[in-house]
This record gives sequence, structure tokens and C-alpha cells, in this order.
Amino acid sequence: MLISRNIQRIKPSVTLAITARAKAMLAEGIDVVSLSAGEPDFDTPQNIKDAAIRAINQGFTKYTPATGILELRKAICKKFERDNGLAYDPSQVIVSCGGKHSIYLAILALVDEGDEVIIPRPYWVSYPEQVRIAGGNPVVLTPTKENGLKVSPQDLRSALTSRTKLLILNSPSNPSGIVYTRDELAALAEVVLEAGIYVLSDEIYEKIIYDGARHCSIASLVEGMVERTVVVNGVSKSYSMTGWRIGYAAGPEAVISAMGKIQSQETSNSCSIAQMAALEALTGPQDSVGAMIEAFDRRRRYIVDRLNSIEGISCPVPQGAFYVFPDVSSYYGFFHKGKRIEDSVDFCEFLLDEMKVACVPGAGFGMDTNIRLSYATSLENIEKAMDRIEEGLKKLQR
Ligand SMILES: *Cc1c(COP(=O)(O)O)cnc(C)c1O
Repeated sequence: MLISRNIQRIKPSVTLAITARAKAMLAEGIDVVSLSAGEPDFDTPQNIKDAAIRAINQGFTKYTPATGILELRKAICKKFERDNGLAYDPSQVIVSCGGKHSIYLAILALVDEGDEVIIPRPYWVSYPEQVRIAGGNPVVLTPTKENGLKVSPQDLRSALTSRTKLLILNSPSNPSGIVYTRDELAALAEVVLEAGIYVLSDEIYEKIIYDGARHCSIASLVEGMVERTVVVNGVSKSYSMTGWRIGYAAGPEAVISAMGKIQSQETSNSCSIAQMAALEALTGPQDSVGAMIEAFDRRRRYIVDRLNSIEGISCPVPQGAFYVFPDVSSYYGFFHKGKRIEDSVDFCEFLLDEMKVACVPGAGFGMDTNIRLSYATSLENIEKAMDRIEEGLKKLQR
């Protein structure tokens, strides 16, 4: 076989696959309502666009330092100080081509062939695959039920081996919307320090949080944790800038400089124009963030109520991000037109083919009992989708 063994182990992103299929149906003129989006439906704020246009007109269109322009790295340091109580030097910050790329660089910098990386379930689809690309072994950890979907210190302890190198945490979480409290993170930090492992803390949904929940960075909690943590964040979700491809990471200087070395050989710098836009996002007016969260919050309440009013579906209230992750497994074993629904992929195929609603199967997140619905779309679309799902499920037969 021509393709390397390492790459043969990797699966393509399921979230992108179902979105592509829904888009193809839309292109054929089929009236599909998509709840599969992994990005805000708002436009990038005007002040940010203007900063990019200025950068183009001023000829800021050349290579930048590989780890990003100093002004932006300084602004990122200020953000960490202000929002997370973390003091970094610009040499401890790297700007890359999206948060996804920052995560990948951190994994490449930390993981050796055969190292184990603990990934709590449900996880963001890219974590296990990126660990595999690096030659590491993802160890998927199922949290014990009494904690909901949160990892407890005992859960973490039980997954540790002599090969464990890294724990990947994502709070607020995509897909579950759970947000770890300060105390929960502090308890995990104690286990991390005791075990001498590292944490990759994906905090990309930091700003998208509800009901007075507070985001807390594990790096800021227990003495010594900042030396053990790579914090990843970015502008994609908070400022509706997914297409601009700017993410960043901060951590121990040795790790960040290794990440910079990889990036310098891999992509050079991230886009110069997008860096200027990100600088404006972090330092300019922040009111668009609040307006976006208010809209998400209204949709969140609506979609949770609608889902929980459907027999056989139970949907916890997410505290962050813009997804709901209900358990739909009570419908497994039901039939439609003679076809038996066996798992989350069959369930989503039924919703897409028969009801013209696109959702993402939980299997891609390591939890086949659930599906992910995104509420980063208009209330009108959500209402239409929920009407269709409700009606569709009545057609299923035992
Ligand atoms: C969207 C997302 C990211 C990063 O997105 P980028 O567009 O690459 O910045 C990282 N982690 C999670 C969990 C996400 O949902």
C-alpha cells in the first residue's frame, strides 16, 4: 500500500462529512435545515474587517515572524492576564493557523511514539486523530456516571500508566457544553502534578458561557500547573472568525519554542492580514461578543425545551459553547420503512434523508448513544428543525 501506515490509522472528520452531505442536498434544491454547523452564524464584526482592509492597503502583506507578530503576541499576553489571571511573556505565546493547528503543534511537540494521551469522552473529533498522526496512542476515558460527563480525579487516576504523557481537557466542551468549575479543575490539577504529566487545555469556547457559569483555566489554579499546561485559545468562536484561521497557544517556553520550530518548517507564519484582524478583535470594542452570546442563550433555552418535550429524548442543559448533546439511544432498535436504526449514524441518516434535518452522530465524538445539534443558526431554523424531528420520530416503529 502506497499510503503510510500512520496515516492509514486516521479517520476523516465526521463533522465535515455530514456538513458536506447536507450542503450537497441544499445545492440540489432540497430544503435541508442544518443543525450541524461548528461555527457561529454571525458575520465577523465590522471593526475587525476594517482592520484587515487597512492591513492590505498599508501593504502588510508579507511574511511575519513564524510565531506571529510581537504586537499580537503582546495583546494575547494581556488577554491571558485580564481574563485568566495568567502571566506570560510574549516568548511563551505562539500564533498559528487556527486553534486546531495550535493543538496539533502542541501534540507534536509533546508526544513521542507510543506515548499515551488521555482524552475524556465525549471528545472533539480531532484530538484522537491528531495524537495518532504524532505516533501517540489516544486513551479514551469514560467518566463515571455520577459526575455527568465530567472527569473526576479518580477517573483520571484510573487511566494513568507509565506511558501517560498528556491529558486533553476541553471546557466549555464541544460537543457536550459542560463547563468544569474551579474546584473540579483544581482537583484534577493535583492528580496531574502528582503524576508529572502535561495538560493541553482547549479553551476556545471560553467566552461562550451561560447562566452565570465562570470559565476558569486549569493553568491558573494550583502552584506549578502553569509549567505543566499548554493553553489553547483563538478568535474563531468568540469573534465569529472561523475563516480567518487564527488560533494561539501559551505555555512553558520550551514547549512553545518547539511548537514554533515545527511551525517554521511547516506553514511559516499564519496569514499577516488575519493577524492584524485578530489584534483588533482582542484589543477593540468587545460588545459584539455579548450580543452574540445573548442570541445563543435564547436559542439554547428553546432547543433544550423542545428536545426534552419529545418522548424518549433526554437533553442536559449545556452551560457553554453552542451545541446540545442529547441521548437518543432509546430510539435504537426502532424501524423506518423496514430499516432498523442501530446507532447514531443511522439515526442521523434517518433525520437527514427522511426529515431533511442535518445533525452530527455522537459516534464521531466517541459517544454513540448521543447526537450533536448546533444552535448556531437562527431561531426560525431551529424551530423548523425541531418540528421536523418531533414529527419524524412519531413515524418510527418498534
Ligand atoms: C472550533 C474548535 C477549535 C478550533 O477552531 P479553529 O477554527 O481551528 O480555531 C478547537 N477546539 C474545539 C473544541 C473547537 O470546537
